[in-house]
Amino acid sequence: MANTLMLSDKPRVLIVGGGYVGLYVAKALEKKVRAAGGVVTVVDPLPYMTYQPFLPEVIGGHIESRHALVSHRMHLRETELITGKVVSVDHDRKIAIVRDPDRHYFEVKYRDIVMSAGATTRTFPIEGLVDHGIGLKTIEEAVTVRNKILERLETASIMEESPAKRRALTFTVVGGGFAGIEAVAEMEDLIRVAVKATPRLQQSDVRIVLIEAAPRIMPEITEEQAVQVVEDLRARGIEVLLNTSLDSCVDGHMKLISMKDKSVVDEFQSDTLLWTAGVEASKVAKRTPFPIDARGRIMAEPTLQVSDGDGGVIEGAWTAGDISAVPDLTGGGVGGYCVPNAQHAVRQAKLLAKNLLAARYGKGHIQQYKHKSLGAVAGLGMFKGVGTPMGIKLSGFPAWLAHRGYHGMAMPTIERKLRVLSGWTNELLLGRDFAQLKDLITPYRQFQEAAGKRSKESLEEQERFEAAAAKQKAELEKEHAAKEATK
Ligand SMILES: Cc1cc2nc3c(=O)[nH]c(=O)nc-3n(C[C@H](O)[C@H](O)[C@H](O)COP(=O)(O)OP(=O)(O)OC[C@H]3O[C@@H](n4cnc5c(N)ncnc54)[C@H](O)[C@@H]3O)c2cc1C
Repeated sequence: MANTLMLSDKPRVLIVGGGYVGLYVAKALEKKVRAAGGVVTVVDPLPYMTYQPFLPEVIGGHIESRHALVSHRMHLRETELITGKVVSVDHDRKIAIVRDPDRHYFEVKYRDIVMSAGATTRTFPIEGLVDHGIGLKTIEEAVTVRNKILERLETASIMEESPAKRRALTFTVVGGGFAGIEAVAEMEDLIRVAVKATPRLQQSDVRIVLIEAAPRIMPEITEEQAVQVVEDLRARGIEVLLNTSLDSCVDGHMKLISMKDKSVVDEFQSDTLLWTAGVEASKVAKRTPFPIDARGRIMAEPTLQVSDGDGGVIEGAWTAGDISAVPDLTGGGVGGYCVPNAQHAVRQAKLLAKNLLAARYGKGHIQQYKHKSLGAVAGLGMFKGVGTPMGIKLSGFPAWLAHRGYHGMAMPTIERKLRVLSGWTNELLLGRDFAQLKDLITPYRQFQEAAGKRSKESLEEQERFEAAAAKQKAELEKEHAAKEATK
């Protein structure tokens, strides 16, 4: 159904996705394009850019969830903003079809398009995964994981020793890349602090399992450092299982198999399953006429123009960041292309904006993207870290400091930097905030119950209770009948 949205009819630079790339491109272009008589439009289902490297710190509680976001409305004052999802692109007609949150569809005309819709969590057809797991790409996921951990600890603290209690206290993370290792380390830190404050629980009651299919973790750091991180995590009580894969997780029953011979390594119950085993280009890439590679990424030339697949470029089409396959001219990268990370996304965004201005308005020259990686640094919980920034091997406190220093500076906008910094300072002065938010998934329940309307969950709970009671009654009657018969 068409939406009668009134949009500017000026020549438009349409930015599909307002994450790292989208935010930086819009910021660099909004004033200049406006001055030249055009308009910059950002379309994104989210009204904010998510600073994803902070998601593990949101789980850990060092950063308030809103502070890890950059609001488009607050920071892109001269950009036309549309909260919606681009579902397809017709580049011959230069039109994108957008779906708004109420599922109305409308067309947005453009002169130039920037494809910057990033990546989504990559999953595999593992039985039970979709029903039981959760990813770590959005702020909502990070907040949910944090609250679930705290809720499970609190609930377990009033349970008798039982399989249900062990299941509540078992936390599973799949993926030994940067995101998975940072997340599991933050989880352990948070759990340790929360357990210490809960008299009926002990750290030894908790089981934390990290599963990685490869023989090592974190390809971004040296082999020696990766071995050290595994040892450190194990010393903190985290079970790090390498060469191991999650085979199924139906109803929270985790079945792990060896990558070497597919034999079953372990089986256990776990209420919490965090899945961080990689990303893949956003699906909208396939709903465009642009050439894509085997991994679903839009093919780019080193100028960040969309490739025509024949060494040339498609006029008026640009791409960068996780959705794109940008050649890595330094000779590094994987398969000759830039790896998907924020370091490339930010730099590509800045160059893309310059090149677009050069191509469209004749301002400056079109240049090729070339950036040598500055290394990476990860936070592994309070005062702990690891990394190789500028090729210098760091671990422990110096690495943690480098991690905070780098990301504190890299967080876009001074306003957000200050919010993050004040949160960190508050934590140092006041201690870690491990308050739990309850009922985030069913926030309407309280109100409905107050109004006397039974929620779906409580009706289902009653049905389950009545079914169990009926089953028990039938068993007792059967037992009684059997006794009578033997009299
Ligand atoms: C947990 C975690 C930790 C990380 N840590 C680091 C780190 O320490 N260092 C580092 O360099 N990198 C890190 N990264 C990677 C980094 O965050 C990404 O490489 C970076 O965000 C890519 O930027 P992007 O603009 O391409 O995509 P994104 O920042 O993901 O932005 C894509 C945007 O497009 C929007 N979108 C999606 N589909 C559509 C559509 N159909 N229509 C319109 N909009 C759409 C999304 O809502 C999103 O806002 C981390 C990632 C994660 C998940």
